[in-house]
Amino acid sequence: MRYDVLTLFPEMFTGVLGSSILKKAEERKLVSYNVIDFRAYSEDKHSRVDDYPYGGGGGMVLTPQPIFDAIEDITKEKSSGKRRIILLCPQGERYTQRKAEELAEFEQLIFICGHYEGYDERIREHLVTDEISIGDYVLTGGELGAMVIIDSVTRLLTGVLGNETSAVTDSFSTGLLEYPHYTRPVDFRGLKVPDVLLSGHHKNIDEWRHQEAIKRTLKRRPDLLKDRELSKREKEWIDTFKDNL
Ligand code: SAM
Repeated sequence: MRYDVLTLFPEMFTGVLGSSILKKAEERKLVSYNVIDFRAYSEDKHSRVDDYPYGGGGGMVLTPQPIFDAIEDITKEKSSGKRRIILLCPQGERYTQRKAEELAEFEQLIFICGHYEGYDERIREHLVTDEISIGDYVLTGGELGAMVIIDSVTRLLTGVLGNETSAVTDSFSTGLLEYPHYTRPVDFRGLKVPDVLLSGHHKNIDEWRHQEAIKRTLKRRPDLLKDRELSKREKEWIDTFKDNL
């Protein structure tokens, strides 16, 4: 996977892309990061990338020229079928684990990080394949959104996580929130680890985890259950749990 990020604040990415799993993924050549200050593409003699909005009103708008030129430059080599061009935008489709799974199938993801009031509409209409919002709130810029997407997609790529199953059982991957975890000690200030987890009986442990995932989802995110095809067993559990959460 190759990530290209168009931003006016490349320094924001240093800590995130240079730490933990994202750093290791790059060292192991599973991903590459290309963070580009698109001001470098500006043809303005003062390297300006924004201007006042036609029609008046507050805020500055990113001009199309530097962003079009930067995208044309970085898309020269690869065929368009293997990449997405993503505009970070509070008005876009809301980001989900399903979207992360979809994006993980591509070879190149290009992010356009806005700032200020927004972008010239021609960028949205003629350049991008996806508009993504990371939630119903307004950020100062698209950089944090791009980092959220890079992080969530990278951990899905084959070979990135040491234990392949850890992404499989993560919340949302199964359509449920993940079950609770416990580690040592067995008794912490009188708070005990559930007996079943100490039993060594794998079938019972799997069943307990499955039930806990259902319980937790029912309590915290019942909306997720509406999108899930429930098994007969899950439906019975829900009937039992729903009055005792
Ligand atoms: N005036 C814009 C509006 O009302 O839709 C908001 C502009 S915001 C201050 C500046 C930039 O931050 C946006 O262009 C976008 O790149 C980014 N941004 C803000 N909120 C975001 C969100 N929820 N998800 C993704 N990107 C966001």
